[in-house]
Amino acid sequence: MTYDVIVVGGGHAGIEAALASARMGQNTLLISILAEQVGATSCNPAVGGLAKGHLVRELDALGGEMGLLTDEAGIQFRILNITKGPAVRGSRAQIDMDRYRVIARNKILTTPNMSLIQETVNALIIEEGVVVGVRTHLLNEYRAKKVILTTGTFLNGVVHIGEITQEAGRFGEFPAKGLTDSLREAGLNVGRLKTGTCPRVDSSSIDFSVMEIQDGDELPNPFSFRTDRAEFARTKKQLPCYIAYTNEETHSLIEGNFHRAPLFTGQIEGVGPRYCPSIEDKINRFRDKERHHLFIEPQTAENTECYINGMSTSLPPDVQRAMIHSVHGMENAKIVRYGYAIEYDYVDPTELKHTLETKKVKNLYCAGQLNGTTGYEEAAAQGMMAGINAALSLQGKEPLILRRDEAYIGVLIDDLVTKGTKEPYRMFTSRAEYRLLLREETADLRLGKYGHALGLIDDAQMERIETKRSQITEGLKLLEETVYTPNKEFLAFLASIDEEHITDKLTGIQLVSRKSFELDKLVKLIPSFAELDPYIQEQILIEAKYARYVEKQSDDIERMNKMLHIAIPEGFDFRSVSGLSNEIVDKLYKFNPPTLQAASQISGITPAALDILHIYIKMAG
Ligand code: FAD
Repeated sequence: MTYDVIVVGGGHAGIEAALASARMGQNTLLISILAEQVGATSCNPAVGGLAKGHLVRELDALGGEMGLLTDEAGIQFRILNITKGPAVRGSRAQIDMDRYRVIARNKILTTPNMSLIQETVNALIIEEGVVVGVRTHLLNEYRAKKVILTTGTFLNGVVHIGEITQEAGRFGEFPAKGLTDSLREAGLNVGRLKTGTCPRVDSSSIDFSVMEIQDGDELPNPFSFRTDRAEFARTKKQLPCYIAYTNEETHSLIEGNFHRAPLFTGQIEGVGPRYCPSIEDKINRFRDKERHHLFIEPQTAENTECYINGMSTSLPPDVQRAMIHSVHGMENAKIVRYGYAIEYDYVDPTELKHTLETKKVKNLYCAGQLNGTTGYEEAAAQGMMAGINAALSLQGKEPLILRRDEAYIGVLIDDLVTKGTKEPYRMFTSRAEYRLLLREETADLRLGKYGHALGLIDDAQMERIETKRSQITEGLKLLEETVYTPNKEFLAFLASIDEEHITDKLTGIQLVSRKSFELDKLVKLIPSFAELDPYIQEQILIEAKYARYVEKQSDDIERMNKMLHIAIPEGFDFRSVSGLSNEIVDKLYKFNPPTLQAASQISGITPAALDILHIYIKMAG
């Protein structure tokens, strides 16, 4: 059986990789251990969040599936950080995890050029440094021109709950064995990481009446640019989450059982996610904290089972029960599934090119948690890019490599393949140098053109994107060109909208960029804006407020792009450059890059190192 592309693993990375490849016309096979677990959310029933929401929006702008799946399966939508600057706001949705799986699987099964088979891949077939297929536990051999691995937490997975350990890819699911050996035999550097999840509780045993309620946004925003916003806001049914707290009793219980925590007994060797610590880790590290938040999140629309977000743990079952019962509102709670930790193999991402193809094995791509990341969104973003680049390569076309200044996806992949990671990597807005340019709401404006060129975004959507762009541009132009004079009439108008008066002439842009100038004042200032969708009005206001900063970031990018074209003189003495680490100097000698652009592609060469190099090259010239 021969295919163009084989994707191994039907998680969030695998779904996007397979759909992108099939939609780009490649005959694609998705192999996954359990067909009904395609699209399973291993951890919390939620998509998005700070910086992760950006990834989903970008994925959607390219024609990916996660945003659409979330809009359909979502049961609560919120914009986080709404009081902070728009660049760091993030969309987050609670999802019905059962529904999510069903619609993801249906999408796979109904997409042309796609086949799904339930099997476990246990070896790669590599001939003379080129992958040509895979072998499965049923002794089937599938041949393909490209193979994309998206195996998540399954490679040699071992689950820990207290003293109990079990080989598993997720609790209750077979691990994937054998594949790591293939990767090692091919010379790839493989490491071990760890992550963990929280207990799930029978909702009918929780007393929600004593907890704080956390509702979704009054007007929910969809994730996908392709979802009708007005219709969505009007029809989407939402469920609340609840907030509870740990207390002194919970903490002393946990502390009293540190000696049984696999995290501290040496039973777990893999490094865990720093920013998603287990509750035992939190109690250990922040001993003086009186309480920790717990978010009680429904797992499905029926709300029969809740995910106790904030209580990730691998403590033994008896301790987990006592911990849960110590929380106000959960005194009689019944655990349905215990929390656990999992250790698994990952591929050192510096083994990969920016296309996510491995450097050592031609036509083999890796994406998702396998590359050392954590999170559905990080996984999906990589899967999409691996799928796109595998298809582009088969079509003999240039790869799509998103730059750091045009997408969080670019930041994610660049960080991974140039710096590598020793702990589960998650996205943060702080990782992006140009975050003002990378707002969630500009993802379609930034990336839609790529999705359209790839055939993943249709003409009608592209037209909507261009209309949005021109409405915003026109709106900004109007604000730029309108000059307000501090005459009596205008000062009276400012007073009527509760805005500070002006003493000098101001352009509309200068006026609306004041902190106090909010959306409701915009239409009063420029009545013709009333004809625009409120969403477009908001985008105009945000762009106007950030115009100065955006311009500065654009200048920085231009400067950086010019800098990257600078040649490094032959025989350049890298040792004479103070401020470069020995590791960087060694790498520069090893690879001897001809330009700063080439230097920037070497793993571990940071933007700061490039800046210093640039200065020294200029001095030498
Ligand atoms: P997965 O979603 O793991 O999917 C992998 C898929 O590949 C599965 O369908 C599997 O069956 C299939 N597969 C694997 N090997 C083979 C094979 N050899 N042959 C065929 N099919 C195969 N993320 C967070 O952001 N925060 C957290 O706190 C967090 N905690 C987690 C806790 C646990 C216990 C687990 C298991 C995951 C946790 N995650 C967390 C991670 C999150 O689930 C992943 O980041 C995300 O699901 C990764 O997506 P993926 O597509 O790379 O892999």
